[in-house]
Amino acid sequence: MTTTRFAPSPTGFLHLGHAYAALFAAERAGKQGRFLVRLEDIDQTRSRAEYEEGIFTDLDWLGLAWEKPVLRQSDHLDHYQKGLAKLQELGVIYPCFCTRREIQQEILSAGYAPQGPDGPLYPGTCRQLKPVEREQRCQAGEAYALRLDVKKASSLVKVKLSWKDRAHGDFHADPSLYGDVVLARKDTAAAYHLAVVMDDARQGVTLVTRGVDLLPATHLHRLLIELLELPLPEWEHHSLIMNEHGKRLAKRDEARSLKSLREQGWSARQVRHHLGFQ
Ligand code: GLU
Repeated sequence: MTTTRFAPSPTGFLHLGHAYAALFAAERAGKQGRFLVRLEDIDQTRSRAEYEEGIFTDLDWLGLAWEKPVLRQSDHLDHYQKGLAKLQELGVIYPCFCTRREIQQEILSAGYAPQGPDGPLYPGTCRQLKPVEREQRCQAGEAYALRLDVKKASSLVKVKLSWKDRAHGDFHADPSLYGDVVLARKDTAAAYHLAVVMDDARQGVTLVTRGVDLLPATHLHRLLIELLELPLPEWEHHSLIMNEHGKRLAKRDEARSLKSLREQGWSARQVRHHLGFQ
């Protein structure tokens, strides 16, 4: 039995790209499987009740049925703390006190920074702090994020990690793509990469479907799954819906929101057909 999920953030109205992702996940679950919805609202500063309601209205309109209750990340923040505690025990995370500006300056003065999928990689400044200094700055109440020491974490894993994508084939994991990625931001309990692997495991997701833009992230997720001893799902990264300029649809492409298409007179059937679904 296949369990899939659609995991939007309630930070805007759903657009055609979301509709494609939701219909794709539901189709992969099939009649026998489970189709779940998860609200990725860990970033409370950007999440709104209005958008959350909009998500359910739109999914319902598209003709989708999903299991209830829906998992809302902000209801389970303590869960992510357990994951962080485990990584802490393994000694693979460290506090990072750097501001964005400090990181930029560090990169500028080095004159070079390896690029990751989301931009230049963190230069590792806080990884090199002496334990005493770390302790002092924490004690002094300085805000910090938690970063994964990806080299150390990878060295703890003795087997070669691989993962399977139903559309793109088998991969050997290269978790270092994102460098020492942030797993908990200064103002949030967990960052996307940590929350997503923990939530998929907790919800019993067996097939993770999402846009191909997140394919590189799966290399890192594979390592986190190993460190946290979570069950291994399969993945299927699908193509993205583009706007008229050939760019991935974004929340600011308001004319393509399901709400406005509905208001323009589109039927749910038209939307489904337009996206290649029955
Ligand atoms: N909230 C993420 C997004 O909207 C979900 C990504 C995922 O499915 O893993 O892009």
